[in-house]
Amino acid sequence: MPATRLMPTPESADLIELTRDIADKELRPLADAAERTHTFHREVFRKLGRAGLLSLPYPEEYGGGGQPYEVYLQVLEEIAAAWAAVGVGTSVHALSCFGLYHAGTPEQKRQWLPDMLSGELLGAYCLSEAHAGSDPAAMRTRAVRDGDDYVINGAKAWTTHGGEADFYKVMARTSDDGGRGISCFLVPADAAGLRADTPEDKMGLMSSVTATMLFDDVRVPAQRRLGTEGQGLPIALAGLDSGRLGIAAVATGVAQGALDVAVRYAKERETFGKPIIDHQGLAFLLADMEAAVTSARATYLHAARLKDAGHPFSRQASVAKMVCTDNAMKVTTDAVQVLGGAGYTTDFPVERYMRETKVMQIFEGTNQIQRLVISRDLAKG
Ligand SMILES: Cc1cc2nc3c(=O)[nH]c(=O)nc-3n(C[C@H](O)[C@H](O)[C@H](O)COP(=O)(O)OP(=O)(O)OC[C@H]3O[C@@H](n4cnc5c(N)ncnc54)[C@H](O)[C@@H]3O)c2cc1C
Repeated sequence: MPATRLMPTPESADLIELTRDIADKELRPLADAAERTHTFHREVFRKLGRAGLLSLPYPEEYGGGGQPYEVYLQVLEEIAAAWAAVGVGTSVHALSCFGLYHAGTPEQKRQWLPDMLSGELLGAYCLSEAHAGSDPAAMRTRAVRDGDDYVINGAKAWTTHGGEADFYKVMARTSDDGGRGISCFLVPADAAGLRADTPEDKMGLMSSVTATMLFDDVRVPAQRRLGTEGQGLPIALAGLDSGRLGIAAVATGVAQGALDVAVRYAKERETFGKPIIDHQGLAFLLADMEAAVTSARATYLHAARLKDAGHPFSRQASVAKMVCTDNAMKVTTDAVQVLGGAGYTTDFPVERYMRETKVMQIFEGTNQIQRLVISRDLAKG
């Protein structure tokens, strides 16, 4: 059962219908095989881009959809309900465009943003390093000014779309001044000296490539720096506030997908002479799952509406990321329980949903780091 949504405009209701149609025709038929065979489908992102679904929260002036986050996130949720890895990829792509849109000069935006927003160029976001995940200010990758260029050396770990992207939004150290010594660069995939290491062998999201990007004397023209020198970490962290909302919506989509499978199964499977949904002990588990999905959706929509109205939303973005991913972990785990032994096999997608959800409690700031953001903001008053 698709979620009932109260969309703010007829245009946004049409967008949801369009997304559901694309999800049914283009995503669901490919997802299972792609996850089993670890196949990244670049053309899926091109199709989403051409349908206008990769650019929704950006202004029409640059080829974006001009939609509020309230709408973008619900579209993202529908994509993730069909195929989590594509939902994550869509969110990461939006995050990769964020720095250019918010910190780029008008000329930089005109030059690159339209192709990025149309999906002709797929993005990746390089913040983490092997020893600098939760604490990105500990990063060591360095960009040294050399005439009109910067020369980048180092390694950016865990890059979603690593080796598949067309551009990399890279945070690198330009001075030793801690978090104030980091700058942001838009590095094209064909830059000499840039290559992807062997992809990570992961628990889930098999159709999404995750790899360390290796920078060996990568020369980048200074006009590819976004913002001023030293502004890189604030650009990265501001992007993460919005990115976390994306992951909250993705997790909610996967949870909705798991709930739908569980309810369908519980109506058909019989024990003790009746469908298992008629056993109260099991039915209450489904009721709790429904409550978890509905409250997760309300939580990310609240944060999105704060953002759309121009209010501070960082604390609520962290609340949403934490609540939605924790709820999704519980819902997908309980979906396996509802299906009994069948849930533990690959005959049903719920075991995959459970594996896919785990990482959502980890990336874009672990849920411990979300608690840090929330509690620090409470302490500030
Ligand atoms: C599949 C996947 C895709 C990813 N994609 C990207 C990407 O595209 N771009 C990118 O830049 N990064 C990406 N990441 C990296 C991800 O953001 C980091 O893994 C994450 O931020 C955690 O960092 P870490 O793995 O170094 O863990 P650590 O920082 O080593 O943390 C280990 C544990 O300690 C806890 N911890 C750490 N510090 C504190 C503290 N102060 N208080 C309490 N607990 C703490 C953490 O919560 C965690 O449980 C991806 C990761 C994965 C697994």
